[in-house]
Amino acid sequence: MGQPRSLIRLLLGIVTDPAAFAATNFDFVVVGAYTTAPKDFADALQGGGTAGLAVAARLAEKSTWSIGVIEVGQYRPNDPLIDVPKNFGSTLGNANYDWVYLTTPQANANNRVIPQNRGRVLGGSSAINFEIFNRPAAIEYSAWSVLNLGFGQGWTWNGLLPYFKKAETYTPPLPEDQFPDPTPTRRRRDEEVAGTDIPTDFLASAIDALNATALDVNALLAAAGVADTLNAGNSTAVTKRSFLNARDDAVHGSSGPVKASHNTWYSDVASPYIHAVQNLGISINNSPDSGDNVGIYNSPRAVDSTSQTRSYAASAYYAPNASKSNFIVLTGAQATKIQFSSTKNRDGTYTATGVSYTYGGTVYTVKAAKEIILSGGVFNTPQLLELSGVGDSGLLSSFGIQTLINLPGVGENLVDHAMTPCSFIIKDGYHTWDELRLNSTFAAAAAAQYASSKTGILTSTISVLSFVPLQSFLSTSKFINILASLTGELLSGASSFSLLQWAQYVLQLGWLYNTDVPQVEFVFVPGFQPTPNSLTPAANTSYITITPVLQHAFSRGSVHITTTDPLVKPAVNPNYLASSFDRSVLVESVKFVRKIASTAPFSNLIKTFNDPPTSVTSDDDIANYVRNSLQSLKHPVGTAAMAPRQLNGVVDTSLLVYGTKNLRVVDASVFPMHVSAHSQSTTYAIAEKAADVIKSIWN
Ligand SMILES: Cc1cc2nc3c(=O)[nH]c(=O)nc-3n(C[C@H](O)[C@H](O)[C@H](O)COP(=O)(O)OP(=O)(O)OC[C@H]3O[C@@H](n4cnc5c(N)ncnc54)[C@H](O)[C@@H]3O)c2cc1C
Repeated sequence: MGQPRSLIRLLLGIVTDPAAFAATNFDFVVVGAYTTAPKDFADALQGGGTAGLAVAARLAEKSTWSIGVIEVGQYRPNDPLIDVPKNFGSTLGNANYDWVYLTTPQANANNRVIPQNRGRVLGGSSAINFEIFNRPAAIEYSAWSVLNLGFGQGWTWNGLLPYFKKAETYTPPLPEDQFPDPTPTRRRRDEEVAGTDIPTDFLASAIDALNATALDVNALLAAAGVADTLNAGNSTAVTKRSFLNARDDAVHGSSGPVKASHNTWYSDVASPYIHAVQNLGISINNSPDSGDNVGIYNSPRAVDSTSQTRSYAASAYYAPNASKSNFIVLTGAQATKIQFSSTKNRDGTYTATGVSYTYGGTVYTVKAAKEIILSGGVFNTPQLLELSGVGDSGLLSSFGIQTLINLPGVGENLVDHAMTPCSFIIKDGYHTWDELRLNSTFAAAAAAQYASSKTGILTSTISVLSFVPLQSFLSTSKFINILASLTGELLSGASSFSLLQWAQYVLQLGWLYNTDVPQVEFVFVPGFQPTPNSLTPAANTSYITITPVLQHAFSRGSVHITTTDPLVKPAVNPNYLASSFDRSVLVESVKFVRKIASTAPFSNLIKTFNDPPTSVTSDDDIANYVRNSLQSLKHPVGTAAMAPRQLNGVVDTSLLVYGTKNLRVVDASVFPMHVSAHSQSTTYAIAEKAADVIKSIWN
């Protein structure tokens, strides 16, 4: 049951309108003076972030349901730091927008603590991210389905595609705004590299390990796109990508809330870069969102092509629904605990009854008649589960928390996209983002141009991306060596694996042999980015930065509470570079970046290898550079994985937390495995799908 409409309207006016609040002439402002909390929403969501606002807005389409959202951050409409596309990155480290997480010291990255930014603002991380809006290879979602024993209820490419489309309105590039070199190329180096066998000793161990589960190793390999490996003793990629010459509109949405478009401004260093990459055997992909993402391409970004502003969860899902009386957003409140029924239901589950949250030092509890949905993101969702008695019983009891539901998978399975930026100083005369820093007249003109016509350099974002399998840049012998080290290491460390890890590693090994599944992304930035030996740019100097990003790390980390105080952030330990595979692939990727910079026509504009400097040559030196330069691309996922409970999963395929009747997780925590794409479009698709699942349950 919802609450009386009159009360909802009152709260709408008081609680969800910080701009009107700020415009009122108070004599005194007392932070946390509210004594009335919203009560008895039919659904209460924690976290007005990327997924939280998306699922809330879709549920609010049912006018008989009332939806309350608790968000610790503020609503910041018309904020140029969020809205102006080129301002991406400017809010990082600013506590008005960012949780400013740091990892624990990373043993394999020279004990460095590494920044992990997360949006702390209405819209969550979609408000502070880099706006890239792309998709992975279709087959990667088959892994999500097979891990869930085929009960994935559409957690496949075909099952998710309608939700990718539902979330977006896609505007293709105009002919005059095309990628600098749209000509498709046919040559793909990875297709010239002979296939090698998947190490069968690892697969034999995996069969033993997964024996007690319903998971079949051959089915896992088939889902990874390699067939008959065990039977025939060789690996055969069962899918082969086709070369499409144009963007296929059948894969894009035309009426969804998130606006996706393409750059209209490109640096003049992009074209020589693209040619050099092509000359190294990586082909142009003109249809990267079709489920075939291998190649170099012009990525869409979440920018409204009309207003040339960021399109994010608050502008896409909240703003158009702000006047709905059944969609209430409480900003500035931090959820601290999920409240459960004191006794179990007959089926052994607990019913989630409400959410406690703190606002200005006072704790309130809001009730939910139907469901509670956790959308606090990949770090805060497991924290709140643990604080509420849902997690590993040993860990919970060490903090004196009574275990309601023993779920050892909570906070485990953390996987991220780790990256190592490499920078180069370029010759004079090229137009890059550095011009905004080097030339104040140019910067002022660019600001005026953006203000008057919403055109020019300030509308631009990162868009030149390459996604490649290892075979694109490794020799066959190097590939075999890396695989041999990996499988040896997996076999010796196997005793500590969860069943989920066993299954994931079979899938990931399969993907290594399927050249349709990218393993590394190379991000091209026409400008300066900080690197370990070059934290600030030199005067009168222009740079380009090329960043390899590991797509399918074998390292696994965790997020756990360190105290019962909900205002203390949990410990984030991605365990970067723990796997020799992750280290070796990044070392080889840095070498490949240098190869691109040494390849014409791009090499013609390079003045100096800046970082790593030319003195760094040996594999050991490059490995040290990797340890020193390692950063996060800010795509952590997986800490409340959608997987069978027996496999250490936290939620089922309807995103229901095991052991509960009505507590769901809807955010990037539920990714059971990572994908070769930036994570927001998948997160929106998850939220869109979750809303349909919930609607079907309560209809
Ligand atoms: C700097 C950065 C750059 C990125 N770049 C890209 C990119 O270019 N492209 C891309 O696809 N992806 C990118 N990502 C990743 C992508 O944005 C995230 O994967 C996605 O937005 C995660 O959505 P979510 O719903 O899981 O969490 P979030 O969007 O982070 O939402 C969680 C929300 O819950 C709120 N919250 C948390 N705990 C509580 C609590 N206890 N009480 C109340 N509220 C709470 C938070 O304040 C936040 O608003 C980037 C991320 C970052 C941080």
